[in-house]
Amino acid sequence: MSRQWHEFSHPGVESPVFAVARPATDPTEAKALGLDTWRELPRAQTPPWPDQAAVADVCRVLDTVPSVVAPYEVDQLRERLAMVCAGEAFLLQGGDCAETFADNTEPHLLANARTLLQMAVVLTYGASLPVVKVSRVAGQYTKPRSNPTDALGLPVYRGDMINSLEPTAEARVADPQRMVRAYANASSAMNMLRAYLAGGLADLHAVHTWNKGFVRDSPAGERYEAIAREIDRALAFIQACGLTDDEALRTVTIFCSHEALALEYDRALTRVAASGRAYGLSGHFLWVGERTRQIDGAHVDFISRIANPIGVKIGPGCTPEQAVELCEKLNPENIPGRLTLVARMGNQRVREALPPIVQKVTAAGHQVVWQCDPMHGNTFETSNGFKTRHFDRIVDEVLGYFEVHRELGTHPGGLHVELTGEPVTECLGGAQSIEDTDLPDRYETACDPRLNTQQSLELAFLVAEMLRG
Ligand code: PEP
Ligand code: MN
Repeated sequence: MSRQWHEFSHPGVESPVFAVARPATDPTEAKALGLDTWRELPRAQTPPWPDQAAVADVCRVLDTVPSVVAPYEVDQLRERLAMVCAGEAFLLQGGDCAETFADNTEPHLLANARTLLQMAVVLTYGASLPVVKVSRVAGQYTKPRSNPTDALGLPVYRGDMINSLEPTAEARVADPQRMVRAYANASSAMNMLRAYLAGGLADLHAVHTWNKGFVRDSPAGERYEAIAREIDRALAFIQACGLTDDEALRTVTIFCSHEALALEYDRALTRVAASGRAYGLSGHFLWVGERTRQIDGAHVDFISRIANPIGVKIGPGCTPEQAVELCEKLNPENIPGRLTLVARMGNQRVREALPPIVQKVTAAGHQVVWQCDPMHGNTFETSNGFKTRHFDRIVDEVLGYFEVHRELGTHPGGLHVELTGEPVTECLGGAQSIEDTDLPDRYETACDPRLNTQQSLELAFLVAEMLRG
């Protein structure tokens, strides 16, 4: 029998709920914890702040504000990810590529949360395992970019925390005050999500009813009917057993995550817990991207200093040796749940590029969560100028990832996707057969193309089929 958690207890959590974390502003303590070592290291994707004194002023404000998340929650997530590590749970992470201040609205946040919850129910059933739910939300306001300028020759958009998407030279100037707005938006997003989740947004019966609506309305619905009916019967069984009032059926936790890119922001929101350990409290889970994962670089150093569960994106250029080095540096104590390696290889590379990495890391004895990001290795531009991804390639990369782990006997721990709960037209294909010419209808992303609601749920049903093998 696999372990299960109770949503309202915190087994194994180190930091007591009521132990207050303090600002990490004491220079001696900060130095001992290495919290500013990154400032001396080579750093890719540095925001082009025009005025360092203004950055320091903003950070002084963020140093002492109430943090976005609490240390005990961070510990709780790490405990759940330890279960993923042990093959006893599955990780579902998803949300916008880039959150924006303008879209930080109740409808948008709720639609995204609802889609994530719908996917999670399908995956819970498919995997017969609890699903850890992590959203790209409440801080996903910075983007690494391939070029410093855009197609118009303007300084490139780097996310709402840094500059504006508006295509004028003035709007593209990096403005440190945006970090304060990012903090305010992140805090209010978490406030609203926590409230709705406590109020029954995640009620299992309601979420399943939405899923039945999807199956009914999707052109590919027939294919998913069998699973939906089985879930129906399982719920009827639970009800017949009189378990309907169980809080576990009504409430779940959604953890928040973002890329730790604007290190000034994540550093300022770092706090020292009662245990004396530093926590990055700008979010529960922080990851470093493919473009900033240099082993001796600033980003890897910073996340090595905080106690959070952390992730590193690895593309097809990552060697098995580099993956092992990342494990040694980021999880020297080999704590399960501490480190997630997020492979984003591309559907054409995953079957050859991933096995040597998994083999070498496993042989070296490192405990990691293996997560598949089937989005970022499959991006291309259409002839009519849209950055997009094809649903079939996304599904194929997930399939390849499952094949690799099945072959090697390792646990395919989770998925990392870019999605939104709105009917956008940003990715091609799916049962709605979105084509190049449909993309302009609702192409609304501030950065990379996201799966829309239907495509997200289709993916969940297809993955549930894969999980049942
Ligand atoms: C992202 O997750 O939006 C991203 C930029 O990913 P990667 O670092 O894998 O390119
Ligand atoms: Mn992206």
